[in-house]
Amino acid sequence: MKTLTVSVVTPDGPVLEDAFEMVSAKAESGELGILPGHIPMVAPLTISAVRLKKEGNSERIAVSGGFLEVRPDKVTILAQSAELPSDIDIERARKAKERAERRLQSKQDDTDFKRAEYALKRAINRLDVYGK
Ligand code: ATP
Repeated sequence: MKTLTVSVVTPDGPVLEDAFEMVSAKAESGELGILPGHIPMVAPLTISAVRLKKEGNSERIAVSGGFLEVRPDKVTILAQSAELPSDIDIERARKAKERAERRLQSKQDDTDFKRAEYALKRAINRLDVYGK
């Protein structure tokens, strides 16, 4: 089976680099499935799970936005944050979710709802990636 090199990088440094047979990601334009030999492209990512597949070793990564850059033999994911399930602090994500929910329910005018909505999405995504 052909593979491509997948490299996941955040402002804190590299998270993972390895060979995989397929990359599935949620771009803003919709679901993407990338196989070796894909035409070059760049796509903005949503707050979502990236799935990396190869025989006997698949990975899920919780990403908080960023970009996916595709070349025929390489996929680079540049994300604001990216965590493997083993790197996710479940208590922290639960607390972040509750905090965001409280902010969204508060009727205060000075609440930054967009910001709270994104925080909620990040927390739910981490809980989701951890839990599967
Ligand atoms: P919090 O409110 O708990 O800080 P957040 O969604 O605002 O959550 P981010 O700004 O997305 O956090 O991330 C800041 C840094 O903390 C990143 O390096 C990210 O990987 C890490 N991080 C955030 N939440 C978690 C978590 N639940 N488990 C592991 N790492 C986390």
